[in-house]
Amino acid sequence: MSIAQFAFDNTYARELEGFYVPWKGAEVPAPLMIRFNRDLAVELGLDTNALDSDAGAAIFAGHVAPEGASPLAMAYAGHQFGGFSPQLGDGRALLLGEVIDTKGERRDIHLKGSGRTPFSRGGDGKAVLGPVLREYVIGEAMHALGVPTTRALAAVTTGEQILRQDGPEPGAVLARVASSHLRVGTFQFFAARGETERLRQLADYAIARHYPELADRPDRYLGLLSAVRDRQAALIASWMHLGFVHGVMNTDNMTISGETIDYGPCAFIDAHDPAAVFSSIDSQGRYAYGNQPKIAQWNLARLAETLLDLINPDDSEHAVRQASEVINSFPLAYERAWLAGLRLKLGLTQAEEGDMALGEALLAIMHNAGADFTRVFRSLSSAASGDTGKTRALFDDPAQIEAWLEGYRSRLAQESGFAEDRAGAMDRVNPVYIPRNHMVEAALQSATRGDLTPFERLVDVLADPFTERAGLEVFALGAPTDFGPYTTFCGT
Ligand code: AMP
Ligand code: MG
Repeated sequence: MSIAQFAFDNTYARELEGFYVPWKGAEVPAPLMIRFNRDLAVELGLDTNALDSDAGAAIFAGHVAPEGASPLAMAYAGHQFGGFSPQLGDGRALLLGEVIDTKGERRDIHLKGSGRTPFSRGGDGKAVLGPVLREYVIGEAMHALGVPTTRALAAVTTGEQILRQDGPEPGAVLARVASSHLRVGTFQFFAARGETERLRQLADYAIARHYPELADRPDRYLGLLSAVRDRQAALIASWMHLGFVHGVMNTDNMTISGETIDYGPCAFIDAHDPAAVFSSIDSQGRYAYGNQPKIAQWNLARLAETLLDLINPDDSEHAVRQASEVINSFPLAYERAWLAGLRLKLGLTQAEEGDMALGEALLAIMHNAGADFTRVFRSLSSAASGDTGKTRALFDDPAQIEAWLEGYRSRLAQESGFAEDRAGAMDRVNPVYIPRNHMVEAALQSATRGDLTPFERLVDVLADPFTERAGLEVFALGAPTDFGPYTTFCGT
């Protein structure tokens, strides 16, 4: 392969020696391109024709390292379900390198499922097709829904069969793109070893990469903590606005950039329910839908602990006080982001005293009635324009929503501006199409059996989640009752 498909500029490899192990992907028998994300490749300034090929499949399988790559496995630690693991790291992943995209943004290109590394512990270093496509379809849907997230660049199969719980499955690798792979757990790795100078190097790197406006501030490490607080508060609020349950909010799965990362056992709620849990391993409901803001705050406190020595090396009590202030202000930052988005979902352009109560009353009614979260919110643009029929029809007994609709009408009467503009704006934040659990499952099952059509169709539908289109009605519906309670698995 003589042409250079990537213009790599690998700062992590260059500047952070000791934070990773240089490594190579495993050779595999038959790399095959399953899906190549051309639009994203163009955005990254990549040679799409060269990469959407067998040669590209070999690269994205980790089988061949492209010119200029400095593949490496990153070290990180993490609290998993509250318990600390001092060494996790990329056990089945590689950072291939960084490129500068067409907007001038630095992006990581990363492979997941590319074989064992020094961090693999007991794992086989592999990934299988179902979970790889799951991350592809849900990650891309989240992006289209306006949520900061890692992206899927390519999914390839390797030609191997990998043994999993239910027998052999097709081996696969996901090539994903992130604004970085710095996690809370990356900081924890060095903090746990008392390596303060390395932590400072890491924090400076994170600031330069994600929060350059802080670089010259004397209180930049406290500033970093506040900046992560704000990005995470906004991120979790955007999840909550869409009914998204991440499912495994361990500190190694919380980014410094504020992007969603690691689509394992995630799912979307149908009926609104703060206690909704889908992951088979989350028996305590730690990562339930309604717990996500609290968990993000808990994770932020774990980040804060790693930064104390940098915040104030001479006065640890003062550092703790300053960091605590930032952590304690998370709920307020979250509430602001939540309320702002809730107003948009309700089509409210002015801020009134009772808006939070109005929105939360709707959630409570939906919860009690078992009404579909996504469909009820989508129907509100009609209700706001005077036609409440669609909303009522989503309740078994329309009487359940009557009084609320009355209150909503009165609140809207306080708004100025055109109703048509309002409906349009609401339809741009309340999606018609989300990755419905039963649709995702059906698509992945077909793909594992060799038929990619439902997966490809689903990816295409979800690329434009806010525009209702004729013929796609089935994608807008909740799960049929015979789908039953939904359980997700970690996808290893
Ligand atoms: P995750 O659940 O994907 O966030 O992964 C948690 C940790 O387990 C990370 O250190 C992963 O690299 C590691 N891991 C997950 N699956 C495997 C696997 N099949 N082989 C090796 N390491 C794995
Ligand atoms: Mg992870």
